[in-house]
Amino acid sequence: MERTLSIVKPDGVKKNLVGDVVGRFEKNGLSVAALKMIRLSRDEAKGFYIVHKERPFYESLTDFMSEGPIVVMVLEGENAISKVRGIMGATNPKEAAQGTIRADLASDIERNIVHGSDSPESAKYEIGYFFSSLEIVNSGK
Ligand code: UDP
Ligand code: MG
Repeated sequence: MERTLSIVKPDGVKKNLVGDVVGRFEKNGLSVAALKMIRLSRDEAKGFYIVHKERPFYESLTDFMSEGPIVVMVLEGENAISKVRGIMGATNPKEAAQGTIRADLASDIERNIVHGSDSPESAKYEIGYFFSSLEIVNSGK
């Protein structure tokens, strides 16, 4: 059993895609262990994406991530990290495989609807960034 952090980004919330995104995860055998809607400040978005601080898209990305509410969730299941990455599709929607969230619902490399942790280390950092241990429930499966 593994846990990962996913986010419906501001573009996804704006387009009323919260249920669609969560539904795709659940249909693929992942369970929601924690979930909430929040709005990040620019500094909070910068802290979340600190690994990208040297990248040319850091400013624009953190502006985008703080422009409106997001839904953050902890997902639990076997191989949850790679499973979520597979359901999301490639970062660039134009390169994402058919049937993935990004191929189906996004058209822009930055505004690409969804986030998912990319490793056990990043999952640990990202889950802890948004949730205390008391807020995460065992799915009991
Ligand atoms: N991003 C961007 N331009 C790029 C690469 C990434 O705007 O050339 C944005 C995009 O929103 C992406 C996020 O930065 O989801 C984090 O990038 P990463 O490489 O970690 O992609 P992800 O793990 O989200 O697929
Ligand atoms: Mg990433």
